[in-house]
Amino acid sequence: MLETYKKQHAKAIIQYIVVDFNGQILESDAILFGNSKEENIVDVSPFFETVIHLLESQDKEYFFNCIHLNLNNKSITADIALKTFNKEKYPLITITDLTSHYKHYQTTAQVRNESVINSEILELKNSYLREKEEFKNTFIANFSHELRDPITGIITFSDILKNTQLDDQQKNYLQILKSSSSFLKKMIDDILDISKIEVGKLQLVLKPFDIRELLKDINASYAIRAKEKGLEYFTSIDEKLPLIVGGDAMRLRQVLTNLLDNAIKFTEKGSVTFNVSLNQVRAQKASVHFEIIDTGIGIAPEKLESIFENFTQVNNPLSFKGSGLGLAIVKYLVELTRSKISVESEVDKGSTFSTNINFRVDSNQKLPTKEEVKIKTIKSDKKYNILLVEDSEITQLSVLKILARKGQFFLDIVSNADEVIPRIENSEFDLVLMDIKLQDQWGDEVAKKIRQLPEREHKRVPIIALTAKVFSEDLKKYKKAGINDVVKKPFDETTLINTISKYLK
Ligand code: ADP
Repeated sequence: MLETYKKQHAKAIIQYIVVDFNGQILESDAILFGNSKEENIVDVSPFFETVIHLLESQDKEYFFNCIHLNLNNKSITADIALKTFNKEKYPLITITDLTSHYKHYQTTAQVRNESVINSEILELKNSYLREKEEFKNTFIANFSHELRDPITGIITFSDILKNTQLDDQQKNYLQILKSSSSFLKKMIDDILDISKIEVGKLQLVLKPFDIRELLKDINASYAIRAKEKGLEYFTSIDEKLPLIVGGDAMRLRQVLTNLLDNAIKFTEKGSVTFNVSLNQVRAQKASVHFEIIDTGIGIAPEKLESIFENFTQVNNPLSFKGSGLGLAIVKYLVELTRSKISVESEVDKGSTFSTNINFRVDSNQKLPTKEEVKIKTIKSDKKYNILLVEDSEITQLSVLKILARKGQFFLDIVSNADEVIPRIENSEFDLVLMDIKLQDQWGDEVAKKIRQLPEREHKRVPIIALTAKVFSEDLKKYKKAGINDVVKKPFDETTLINTISKYLK
């Protein structure tokens, strides 16, 4: 019975072929292709061309897997084996039809390969995106860095011009120059902030500060700005606010001024209101509510979410200038304090932006004493020798003009890092102003060399860095290199003079 079944169901898939040493078929069954006695194996399929030269070998076995053959006009996938014997016995070729096996195998292999390929593509895409992102951030950081020298130039010379004899028209032009350069400076600061945010490098610096003083200061300037635009300015600051709180005063000011700038910018008539109230004080934390209300153009409900994204401007960008970065930065900064910013708005009625921010309150918190913040006035009877190491001509000229106006400084300038050490060794400087990104070297490396000089009075000279590279790791590096202080570019006259004065005896 088994034999009958076998006969019915066993599918013959192997063909045996005996050939002579030239490939002539001597004997074969007709399982896969017709009985081709007296035909050469090469005529069965061109594949066998590769086998012919092996027929002369002795006692060898060769296997060829997954070979596509066209036999009797039918395409099959087969494994082929060749067995050679000694000179007296002819070679044997077997062809095993494994078409269905290979088909299944190929499909699974293909599926597997596809998933491997897909994950490789994904990995490639990710690394491409990462590289692109990194390139973009470095590009932005470098680009804004390069813009700082020319802006410093514009700011400094506008300041200098202000103090010369000008007629009314010229004063007007100067005002435009000043407001354009401050706008440009703000845009660059925003772009740098965004690039810092994207690489996770923007962090809060928490210190005790006088919150009421800060709010008073903000109110003073925005009351004027609102009035200039013909808007009313209302404000209410809670009497119960603690006097000193711990937080990042600079970033708080940035959040509030961004919101107030927008309120004024997007309001043509009516008012801008700035309210600050104390929610509660609990567990050494004061929760403070800030609210900025305007009666301006408002924001459509479907656009409310997107205004916090980078580069988003939902109103006609042609009518309002701006980069669309302000609110993205505000949102990020507020979230750094583990809080949220919310907005309610109605088109043509106005908008209300509000947030609750926690500040540290601790009766032991003290503001830096007046002694520490007081700026040392420079002794009027002495002239100081300053060495400026700077390769940008605009900055050289700006520093020169600022110092010259004081009439208390002799300024020596070198633009090449290699000239610094010989210059210091041959003269007596009271202070060195050091650009960080010099053409051929980093300023902090030059500072290290100064600190290693043999002469005490040379190596002890105060060094102030002039730079836009002020990430916290940069500052640590400067300190380690022996740099005493940093003046951030673009700088203005007051900052430069005040910082210098701290180090002059
Ligand atoms: P920018 O003001 O530089 O365009 P922001 O990120 O500060 O960028 O604001 C993004 C967009 O949100 C603005 O362009 C404006 O369309 C909308 N917006 C922000 N504040 C207000 C407001 N007070 N009233 C109306 N629209 C606003």
